[in-house]
This record gives sequence, structure tokens and C-alpha cells, in this order.
Amino acid sequence: MKLLTDKIEREGIVLGNNVLKVDSFINHQMDPQLMNEIGLEFARRFKDAGVTRILTIESSGIAPAIMAGLAMNVPVIFARKRKSLTLTSDLYTSTVYSFTKQESNEITVSKKYLLKEDRVLIIDDFLANGQAAIGLADLVEQAGAEVSGIGILIEKSFQPGADEILKKGYRLESLARIASLQDGKVKFAADREVQSIYS
Ligand code: 5GP
Repeated sequence: MKLLTDKIEREGIVLGNNVLKVDSFINHQMDPQLMNEIGLEFARRFKDAGVTRILTIESSGIAPAIMAGLAMNVPVIFARKRKSLTLTSDLYTSTVYSFTKQESNEITVSKKYLLKEDRVLIIDDFLANGQAAIGLADLVEQAGAEVSGIGILIEKSFQPGADEILKKGYRLESLARIASLQDGKVKFAADREVQSIYS
């Protein structure tokens, strides 16, 4: 998605060789116009997927998820991150190891808001090792619902998450794909559909 890759080129800051900081438009300050366009793009890409609900994880997934929910006219739920749980009987829970914080979190959603009839679109800001997306998919499957796809704003294609997700058979749509973050520079990868035509 050109709007997003242009913004990353202009404002993204590379930390080390594998972290991209996007605090000026996604992770701290947010760009509502860009989020609106992202929501419309997810709605376009998943228009035939029969999505009934969107699931994301707090906090940075919420903005793009709510815009996608608006564009697709479906409810949006965000999984909460909690260290320890007291009452679990009304919750689906999964454990996710955080790439950026290097700690494990329990993620939870209320059983009230994920139903077995649901076809769920999972949305998150970044895809690195795939732990967050796979943990969210686990919550969906605990509910007996179906994962209709996974939508990511920024996929770091040089990390294993994308392959893991595709190997599990999920449909993955990433709006920007990063081939490398070597030497402080963002190098983009081609869109997956374009790539598959030529590879
Ligand atoms: P994964 O679970 O795929 O390993 O990592 C995805 C999660 O880690 C995302 O929810 C995101 O919050 C965070 N994350 C992973 N890589 C980056 C990165 O390069 N930059 C930022 N800002 N967050 C990242």
C-alpha cells in the first residue's frame, strides 16, 4: 500500500537490524487519515471473506482494527494483555511471547464476544515472529469460530512470522512488506501476489 510505504520511508526509524520505530504515525502519535485508508484497504482485500468480527490486541492494533470495522460494518474486539489471571472461566486465554518487550503475556477475550458462528479477521500493526497473530488465532479457535484472515500493517518478511502463518494455512494480507532493515535502511519486498506471479 503506497500511502503506508511512503510514510514508512519518510518517518520510520530503524533500530538495530530488526526493529522499526513508527511512533509518529502508528505506535504513539496516530495518523487518522492514514488509519482510515488502511481500514478501507483491509475492507477491499477481505470483502469476499465473509468477516463477521474483527479481533486485534491492545494497544497498537486498535486504531487500524476500528477503522477496518467501520469500513466493513462489523464489531471489533481487542484482546487484553494480563500478567496473571484470577478469574478465567468466562475468558479464552492464550500465552504470547512479546517480540519487543521480551516477556510472556497472557492474552484474553471474553467468551461473550467471540462466538462459534463468527468468521474472524485478525488485525495487528506488526508481524515479526508471528506470536501475537498465532495467539489471537488460538483464541478464535478456542471459541470454535473460524479465522477468515490475518491483516497486518507492517510485515517484516525477513523474520519467521509470515511463513509460520502461511504454513498453518491462514490467509495473510500485509499492507507493507519489509525485506530488510540492514544499515539503518528500510528495504521493501514486493507484494505477495506480485511476487508469486514471478517466483
Ligand atoms: P510477533 O508476535 O509477530 O513476534 O510480533 C508482533 C508484535 O510485536 C506486534 O504486536 C508489535 O506490537 C510488536 N513488534 C514486532 N516488531 C516490531 C517492530 O519492528 N516495531 C514495532 N514498533 N513493534 C514491533
